[in-house]
Amino acid sequence: MIDTHIHLYDPDFDADRDEVVARAKAAGVKAMVLASVSEKEYDAMLRTEARYPHYCFASIGLQPEELHDLEKQMQWVETGLKSRKWLAIGEVGLDYHYDNAASQKQKGESASIHDYTSVELNHRQQQEAFRQQIRWALDYDLPLLIHSRDAFQDTLRILQENKNSRLRGVMHCYSGSAEWGKEIMKCGDFYFGIGGVVTFKNAKLGSILPSLGMDRLVLETDAPYLAPTPHRGTRNESAYLTLVAQKIAEVFGTSSDEIGKITDKNACQLLGNELNSIDT
Ligand SMILES: [Zn+2]
Repeated sequence: MIDTHIHLYDPDFDADRDEVVARAKAAGVKAMVLASVSEKEYDAMLRTEARYPHYCFASIGLQPEELHDLEKQMQWVETGLKSRKWLAIGEVGLDYHYDNAASQKQKGESASIHDYTSVELNHRQQQEAFRQQIRWALDYDLPLLIHSRDAFQDTLRILQENKNSRLRGVMHCYSGSAEWGKEIMKCGDFYFGIGGVVTFKNAKLGSILPSLGMDRLVLETDAPYLAPTPHRGTRNESAYLTLVAQKIAEVFGTSSDEIGKITDKNACQLLGNELNSIDT
């Protein structure tokens, strides 16, 4: 199994990172992709990558919730891209979750023009950063790790604008419908990151997996977030991918070994074969 999206450099792992990696290896996790968030976590991410060579692979990108000092941060991404080889650009994308939550709360009250404007501005900036990082993915011929939350329509529209045979990536923590999945696949070579959410009670995700297709799925934790059942609500870690693979195997009526093999092949196809060259 390959964990295609983890924040192992997060301080949540400072106390026992080596043990977390040891448990992952024991559970059959062959490699981890470290998803970047912003310049703030950059040094910690590089340190984590260096500590687990040929096991942890870093990506670079600005996550949509981190838009303060946008110009400076985009410069950081650009400089980083020139400085070395990366596995992917990400995580990048659009996140309107907190704006939507805020506007829900405001319903019934008189809408503040100021808030409305700042939400619009924030969405425009997110889109601008997303578009620029897509251009870089094409320039540098790298896959994208895409984060999209409560922003599906705009995410799809921007991918459609950039439709290209070289455009490729993972829809990380995919939560859209089967139909939207099909539209995304028309924009380039796209895969869907499946993690703990698929194990949640009442999750609809499982039922759409067959229409996405086994050959389009990759495993991910998004650890320390989104631990699968029965660990839901506690810190997530890559060893729990066995629970995710098991659930996907149930959906397809196959074994979790088979799911591990197929999702590894998909991940390597997208992110590069060095991910699979490691014998653990
Ligand atoms: Zn993430």
